[in-house]
Amino acid sequence: MAGQPEHLPGVSIHDEVLPACEFTTLHLRRGQVLRIIDLEGQQVLDFAAYHPANHEEKLSCIYSNTLNGAWRLKQGHVIYTNRCNEMLTITDDQLGIHHSGGGCCNNELYVSRFGKPHRNCFDNLMAALEPHGVQRTELEADCIFNFFMNLEYNPDGSFKFASPPTTAGDYVDVRAEMDILAGLSNCPQDLTATNGFNPTPLRLIIYEPSGA
Ligand SMILES: [Zn+2]
Repeated sequence: MAGQPEHLPGVSIHDEVLPACEFTTLHLRRGQVLRIIDLEGQQVLDFAAYHPANHEEKLSCIYSNTLNGAWRLKQGHVIYTNRCNEMLTITDDQLGIHHSGGGCCNNELYVSRFGKPHRNCFDNLMAALEPHGVQRTELEADCIFNFFMNLEYNPDGSFKFASPPTTAGDYVDVRAEMDILAGLSNCPQDLTATNGFNPTPLRLIIYEPSGA
């Protein structure tokens, strides 16, 4: 793996490349920052997050949107839990294209839309989280945040999944405001524009910010 990225404002304590279509589990301590780098561009990361000791408290897209007055969360916005506690702050965001609406691709969705099973984010997230005690019933649509997902809402009420405008090297930083257990799925959708019809790798860095 490449060395320390330029301008990383802190000390790296974790650095991995998440291959296309794969999943991983991360444990963030309060104050640490997760940098998500889109290595090749146009790639969505589905992110489900929990209080490590109480999985009933988890990320909530709905309450995050309500408290921010926005559904497309950007730098300066806070992602909240379903108990309305601060979970993550978006501290550095080059594009501001993320979908805080909940949900992820699952096998049933592929069968309904395309008539065949497909590798999917729900199964990826369960594979990441089940070894850490998260039950299937605890992985709900509302606790899944879609980094770099470009959903376009139209005035007539319709919407479409557009390709993300990200290019190679674009990143977002989110600072943990509490200890967090997170499951991450590098979205394997290759049948729509969601990932530009071509799933690609992401790089994940956890760092301790300077002066923290
Ligand atoms: Zn997906």
